[in-house]
Amino acid sequence: MQLKKDIVRYLRELRLVGIKDFYEEIAIQAVQEPLSYERFLYELLQKEYERRENNRIHRYLRESCLPLEKSFQTFDMNRLPGKIVQQTKVLAEGFFLEQKENVLVFGNPGSGKTHLVSAIGQELIHKGKKIYFILCYRLVQELIKAKQELTLSKIIGKLSKYDAIIIDEFGYVQQSREEMEVLFTFLAERYERGSIMLTSNLPFSQWEKIFKDPMVTAAAIDRLVHHSMILELNLSSYRMEKAKQKQSQTK
Ligand code: ADP
Ligand code: MG
Repeated sequence: MQLKKDIVRYLRELRLVGIKDFYEEIAIQAVQEPLSYERFLYELLQKEYERRENNRIHRYLRESCLPLEKSFQTFDMNRLPGKIVQQTKVLAEGFFLEQKENVLVFGNPGSGKTHLVSAIGQELIHKGKKIYFILCYRLVQELIKAKQELTLSKIIGKLSKYDAIIIDEFGYVQQSREEMEVLFTFLAERYERGSIMLTSNLPFSQWEKIFKDPMVTAAAIDRLVHHSMILELNLSSYRMEKAKQKQSQTK
């Protein structure tokens, strides 16, 4: 009895919760099968590892601010052209993060840009990467606030711990000069240091609307495109299609 109490106490203090919850069951299994000492140790360590890995994934998913309902489970890949399916598979492997490459997803509203990048983001978290999802206008708001509080470099430093920052709806809002400036600073600081994945309804030809100045626009595009993969979702709106299907069914 005392032995069991001590085992539990040690495991708790050493924070080996996975082993704590399973060692009795595995000890019984070890006698019955029987398991070698080495195999027994392996089984225990595996439980501990799985527990920690699961906890990590949950923590990273929570911290990521990703819309979790937009995953590959709920995504219909058949809607995508073959080339994009291929690109998606490559991106989900995550090698682009090591190369600090960017991913730029263009397409009309409802074509599935946000869903696709969110699904890729979740996949990458399962592979051990840190991802952060933010709407462009929110990012700009946070950067402006930080600039006013003289903490801009701090917030940029904080975001640098993520392997990829997903900026959704890039250039969606009409930006003032100050907003454009902090956004540009952010892109310039992150250039070749960490990946950016962005979605936008605006093709590059209209980015002057975002950055106002042609030189700044060119500099921003240049940095983003330099090491990047571009996905063009020239698809009809998923929402519209579903609504039409529904309508024709009720006719
Ligand atoms: P966008 O960001 O391009 O405007 P969204 O990713 O928000 O488009 O997609 C619009 C809606 O349609 C969302 O509810 C999304 O989940 C759904 N959707 C889009 N494409 C697909 C798809 N291929 N499979 C399943 N749902 C999709
Ligand atoms: Mg979107």
